[in-house]
Amino acid sequence: EGRVVEATRLPKEGGSEALLGFGPGTHTVFLVPLLVQARLRGVVLVLIGSDLSEDRKAILEALGREIALALESAALAEEVHRRKSEERFRSLVQNSSDVVAVVGVDGVTHYVSPAVERILGYKPQDAIDHSVFMPPIMHPEDIDRVRRVFAGLIGSPGASATAYFRLRHADGRWIHVEAIAKNLLYDPSIDGIVVNYRDITERKTFEEQLRYQAFHDPLTDLPNRALFIDRLRHALVRLKRRKKLVAVLFLDLDNFKLVNDSLGHEAGDMLLVSVAQRLQGCLRAEDTAARFGGDEFTILLEDVTHTGDAVRVANQITRALKAPFAFEGREVFINTSIGIALSTSGRERPTDLLRNADAALYRAKASGKAACEVFDAAMNTLALERLDLEADLRRAIERGELAVHYQPQLELLTGRIAGWEALVRWMHPERGLIPPPTFLSIAEERGLITQIGNLVLEEACHQAKEWQEERHPAAATSLKMSVNISARQLQRPDELVREVVRVLEETGLAPDTLVLEITESMIMEDAEYNVDVLGRLKDLGVRVAVDDFGTGYSNLAYLKRFPMDMLKVDKSFVNGLGENPEDTAIVEAVISLARALGLTTVAEGIETTEQLERLRELGCELGQGYYFSRALPAYEASALLLAPSGHHAKGRR
Ligand code: C2E
Ligand code: MG
Ligand code: MG
Repeated sequence: EGRVVEATRLPKEGGSEALLGFGPGTHTVFLVPLLVQARLRGVVLVLIGSDLSEDRKAILEALGREIALALESAALAEEVHRRKSEERFRSLVQNSSDVVAVVGVDGVTHYVSPAVERILGYKPQDAIDHSVFMPPIMHPEDIDRVRRVFAGLIGSPGASATAYFRLRHADGRWIHVEAIAKNLLYDPSIDGIVVNYRDITERKTFEEQLRYQAFHDPLTDLPNRALFIDRLRHALVRLKRRKKLVAVLFLDLDNFKLVNDSLGHEAGDMLLVSVAQRLQGCLRAEDTAARFGGDEFTILLEDVTHTGDAVRVANQITRALKAPFAFEGREVFINTSIGIALSTSGRERPTDLLRNADAALYRAKASGKAACEVFDAAMNTLALERLDLEADLRRAIERGELAVHYQPQLELLTGRIAGWEALVRWMHPERGLIPPPTFLSIAEERGLITQIGNLVLEEACHQAKEWQEERHPAAATSLKMSVNISARQLQRPDELVREVVRVLEETGLAPDTLVLEITESMIMEDAEYNVDVLGRLKDLGVRVAVDDFGTGYSNLAYLKRFPMDMLKVDKSFVNGLGENPEDTAIVEAVISLARALGLTTVAEGIETTEQLERLRELGCELGQGYYFSRALPAYEASALLLAPSGHHAKGRR
């Protein structure tokens, strides 16, 4: 009842004094009960030397009640605190935007937080007691992968793992989630795998969008160069396993620049979009059309059985693009050229095929007749025609149908003729004048190029000597003669050196007035080796010019080591000068690079006053191009030398 009771009396001489630290005398022990909610929770022990009066007992009883009360309230406070934090925890889980689920070792859901309704559209109770690995909730393609992660987790207590998978929303959509799972099987209050997951569909979509943008042309929505090359690479890998061919079509709009310039960029853009649409209309689903850049498109044909298939598609495309394009009431016609390359072995690299297709395109353009050309010589439908051309070419060399024409190179500041470039021409009795790109590749393939090269070298050196001796008023005695050297000539340096020495001796031409033009890409084929070859040529006292500079991906480290005198800026860059900021930047860079290396710069393909002006401003020393003159037969070139300085620029275009 909460009363104070006398428990015992301690004897006088029991040693209890010393033990308890009290003075001598009889001691009585009283117990004051502590009752919390009517249950005895403890006692207060009171030792006293005398008896307790009733009112003192009452005071002790009151004290006992006070202590009990304090204990009770402390316990209560503790309980309240415990409940509060549990509540807070529950409320955190319940209100979290992430879904928190507790899953058993068998994958069955024991608990899932309400966020599941927001993310997946169904009530928590619908998920409880179901396996998480059952379709239709988890995407069938993800189940095995996630199962493996889950199995790995079960084996290691306390471990956690992250997984990405798709879950089906109640409305049927797939939701991408990122899940972090932790093994809390050993924790008795959880006894499960705690899975925390959130909706990352938006992030995924954004990533996919970015990926899409990285691999597609924003204007036409076609795959871009990178994706095309990737698909081509895969197609070539597949090819090894199948008896099929892969064809690459390289397509270029001949007069796109004209449309762009005359009707404006917007019309140009619209034209490209329409072209892309028509292209796709000609293709099967498994083929790929890509915008390769500018007005260039590439097409990948898989499952081709012979060349004819590719040619048929090319013709179909040509026809589809022949129909006029309508812009604001105007009709625009465009011409297309297509180069085709086929891979049979699968050993080719994507770049090989693209280069071959590009070369075929170049030939298609140069011939000016065929809308498409096939590169692959062996299975070429045009092989017969080319065989003809080969026989013709051999005859032409014998009969002297090959002529050398000369294009002047001028000092851009003074307009004086500083030299000439010798360019070979073939006067075919039936076909007329054939430009070098058409027959030089055949000559190169059939081993006729060295013969042609020597022929041009000899003729050009004779001509140079003659002009130097005539001392034309417009020309210096240092008048230079540039001769193009082919890849095959460069590959046989002994023969080349012997030939140059022979021709110089025979003609008496001062070696430092002969310039050998070697294309940048030729040098780069075997840069290390060619550093030596160029060195040997330089030792003869002749000059070396790097032709078509800017197209050959030069390694700057080599560039420094090449013994050379001139850089010829490729005409494709000069072409865009002042219009295309990239081209302009490249030309500027090449000129300053040349200056840094102490080289003379020659710009090729100058066609307009603006280009000339820009080149002058940039400090380019020499230039050639239709603006001044085309390549001319020797007698016309002589006449040009006689003309007063500055006047040969006009009327020769
Ligand atoms: P290349 O050495 O870069 O020669 C410049 C080419 O640009 C020449 O074409 C020339 O006629 C052309 N050209 C010059 N000015 C302009 C212009 O203002 N606009 C345009 N669009 N073109 C211009 P060509 O004569 O058809 O020769 C093409 C290529 O054939 C030459 O490029 C050269 O690599 C090769 N080639 C020509 N003759 C010989 C030769 O005798 N031997 C060797 N190995 N290659 C030669
Ligand atoms: Mg050249
Ligand atoms: Mg060139």
